[in-house]
Amino acid sequence: MLDTSEIKELYQEVILDHNRNPRNFGEIENYTHHARGHNPLCGDQLDLFLIIENDVIQEVKFKGSGCAISKASASIMTTILKGKTANEAKKIFDEFHKIITVNSDNSNENINIGKLAVFAGVREFPARVKCASLAWHTLLNALENSSNNVTTE
Ligand code: ZN
Repeated sequence: MLDTSEIKELYQEVILDHNRNPRNFGEIENYTHHARGHNPLCGDQLDLFLIIENDVIQEVKFKGSGCAISKASASIMTTILKGKTANEAKKIFDEFHKIITVNSDNSNENINIGKLAVFAGVREFPARVKCASLAWHTLLNALENSSNNVTTE
């Protein structure tokens, strides 16, 4: 059971906002990269579409269904990725992954993860870590241009 403060920590306003109004929600017809992610523990699933030219992410959209955390994470991720190279995206994910899994505030300040910091609260809830990271695991798979389905298990 979550107590009130824990719920507050998990569902910060920015998460609620992105859940209600997900950014970049939809499909890209002429995508260059695509992957599908699935988190069977929670039932989250999403399709991620990207247009990558000269190693720079030009366009990114997602569609799918899931809990507030998985949806908000995917939405916020898409707002961060445009203009980034594949390597930059991977570095951001490394930082994000530390924030949601490691109980430490000494994150790498050289990388500005901005709004992703709101997900720090999920580290207390291992099942929610998978919700928060699903979009990113799907992204890594898309960057490899693999057609395999992603699962968090
Ligand atoms: Zn979920």
